[in-house]
Order: sequence, then C-alpha cells, then structure tokens
Amino acid sequence: MTDLPFYVPVDHECELFTTAFQQRLPLLLKGPTGCGKTRFVTHMAARLQRPLFTISCHDDLTAADLTGRYLIKGGETVWADGPLTRAVREGGICYLDEVVEARKDVTVVLHPLTDDRRMLPLERTNETLQAPDNFMLVVSYNPGYQNILKALKPSTRQRFIALSFDFPPPETELEIIANESGLARERCTALVNLATQLRRLKETDLEENVSTRLLVYCATLMAAGLDPLQAAQAALVEPLSDEPEVQQGLFELIRATF
Ligand code: ADP
Repeated sequence: MTDLPFYVPVDHECELFTTAFQQRLPLLLKGPTGCGKTRFVTHMAARLQRPLFTISCHDDLTAADLTGRYLIKGGETVWADGPLTRAVREGGICYLDEVVEARKDVTVVLHPLTDDRRMLPLERTNETLQAPDNFMLVVSYNPGYQNILKALKPSTRQRFIALSFDFPPPETELEIIANESGLARERCTALVNLATQLRRLKETDLEENVSTRLLVYCATLMAAGLDPLQAAQAALVEPLSDEPEVQQGLFELIRATF
C-alpha cells in the first residue's frame, strides 16, 4: 500500500467510495477547485487496483470525445475507443472532472450507464456495451460557480450518490502541505493560519477562495528557497485576484503573517 498516491482522508470518504464501487453505484463529487477531488479519485483507483480514465470536461467536449470515433489510418477507416468506452470495456474507473462544462449530449451518453442497466450504446459501431462489475463512473462539479446555464440538472444529479468536498480542516491541511512540499512543519503552520484568515474574507472580495493546491504551490516555492513574500505573491495573490485593491489587501494580510 506504500506506493499509493498520497491522500489524507478527511472523513469516511474512502469507505464510501469503496462501497459505491462494490455496489456498482455512480458517484458525484461536489466541491471547490483544488480541494483534493482528483487526488482522492486517483488514490482510490490505485487502492481498488482499477485503471483510471480521467477526462477534464470543457465546452467543446462532445459525446464522441468520450465514446470514440472513426479515424483514417493508412487509408483505412478504423474505430478508436474514447476513454469512457475503454473504461467500460476494461472495467476501469472513468472520472469526468467538471462535468457541467461538457455539452448536453455528454449527459445523454452517461444516463444509461448510471442506472441499473449500466449500458453504453455505441450507435456508430452498432454495439451496446454492458459495463462489467468493476466499472465505475465518477463525476465532479463545483457548485460554487453558480452558473445557472451550466448548473447540473436535477434529473442528472439524482442519478448519482454524492459526496461534498471542502478545504480540509487545519491539521489535515498542514499534513498535506508539509508532505507535498517538504517545507518544515512550523512554516506550513503559518501558511495554514494564513489560509484560515483568507478564507474568512468575505466572498465579495474574492471570486474563489484560496485552495489547498495554491497553498501547496506556495509551500513548494518556499521550500525551494524563495523569499516567503515573493512566493505568496506568485502563488496566492496573483492567482486569487486581478484587482489591484484586492491584491493589496491580500498582500497586507500576508505580510502580517510572515
Ligand atoms: P480538485 O480535483 O478538487 O480541483 P486536486 O485533487 O487536484 O483538486 O487537489 C489539488 C492538490 O491539493 C493536490 O495535487 C494535492 O497536492 C493537494 N491535496 C488536496 N487535498 C488533499 C488530500 N486530502 N490529500 C492529499 N493531497 C491533497
């Protein structure tokens, strides 16, 4: 178990994931960006010894990007499975990150896989694949974006069991940052305290809160010898805001910490 991707559980999410996998239930992960959803899925796929197929969804992603398409190779037309089809054929875990970003036809392809039929119809090849027991569908989305046009439809949401993610509690976040960056624990503690303060700032100032990912970046720069203020400017202030006044406010808070 030592070569598993590093993941610190926050609650009983590993047990829930394992049970969902065993019971052939699809899983929806909700939560802000950079709080550990992708790492969690990577860790669980390794733990369950299943291949992982990750797809980052975007507005141009179509059903064919998931299922597959005919390609011309050496003058011949050959079918190439997409990542979802491969996951179904091989009995793997298919993870669709930010699923609401994808086009509507993607959800249509997912529906028959999410109920007890567990089927993937491939119109182009005239096949209907039956997902094996060790296939699992996992999707994530960030409810914080609040984009009404892109909200996950209740009819889709209700096809999944769901798990909410948030930034880890301070002790857990400390362990994560220290482990990921190699920065001394007491310096990581200062960063975690800073994050607590930044997260308390009202959301009117910041569109998105400081993520664990950004804290890991900042700690990594510091561990590599960069001046803490310079590291914080590059890893926290700049990625969090484009507004000079907001940046100034953030920087003052940071200067008071280091
Ligand atoms: P998300 O998928 O939610 O956007 P990630 O899974 O990519 O976020 O997490 C960003 C980074 O934060 C990871 O690369 C990892 O360094 C760190 N991280 C966050 N939560 C955890 C955790 N519970 N255990 C280990 N690392 C974590």
